[in-house]
Amino acid sequence: MKIAINKAHFPVTVLGPGRRLGLWLQGCSIRCRGCVSQDTWARDPGREMTVARLLTWCKQTSENALDGITISGGEPFDQAPALGALLDALRHWRSSAGLDFDILCYSGYPLATLQKRHAKLLAKLDALIPEPYAEGLPLTHLWRGSANQKLIPLSPLGVARYQPYLDAPAAMFGKRIQVQVADGRLWSIGIPDRGDMAALEKLAGERGLLFSDVSWRQ
Ligand code: SF4
Repeated sequence: MKIAINKAHFPVTVLGPGRRLGLWLQGCSIRCRGCVSQDTWARDPGREMTVARLLTWCKQTSENALDGITISGGEPFDQAPALGALLDALRHWRSSAGLDFDILCYSGYPLATLQKRHAKLLAKLDALIPEPYAEGLPLTHLWRGSANQKLIPLSPLGVARYQPYLDAPAAMFGKRIQVQVADGRLWSIGIPDRGDMAALEKLAGERGLLFSDVSWRQ
């Protein structure tokens, strides 16, 4: 089974508790206004890899020392069969290696839609942050981009791990964005507030650093 990936990183510390593997899937048909990840929208067969290869990368990169895995995008549920294969592989790794990492997944689809169309996939997750990004609503809660998005535990592990954060304010750990430089590009990881990326671009420009291509506008 192949899965289209935009990027993967470890450790991610701003999208869920602890040190996490972050997997961003490529392709999103939802296209929320104001999305900061527009580089993930296009379907791109050139970004496909096998789930087995991705699993090997996850194992080698984390060296089994991880607290969780965050799957985002793009829209993970737009690749439902591949997402299912990935979740099966991750869960098998977790049980066979005796690990206790949790699996958190973002989706831009409403919860009711996911429950209707993808109940079997939801049963493989520990926690879910659904609903489209709403540019007109404020950023209020930890790990969520707009006030309509809820954090929903889906398993006993998810309840144990996420219960303390269900109503946690966005600034619980201060404003934190991770930055990674790879392949000549600057990647930001985390949930920026309204205007943060434009402010970063302006500040950089004032220092003579011009962004030629950004993911928050087309
Ligand atoms: S916020 Fe998420 S669901 Fe919405 S367009 Fe961007 S990648 Fe797609």
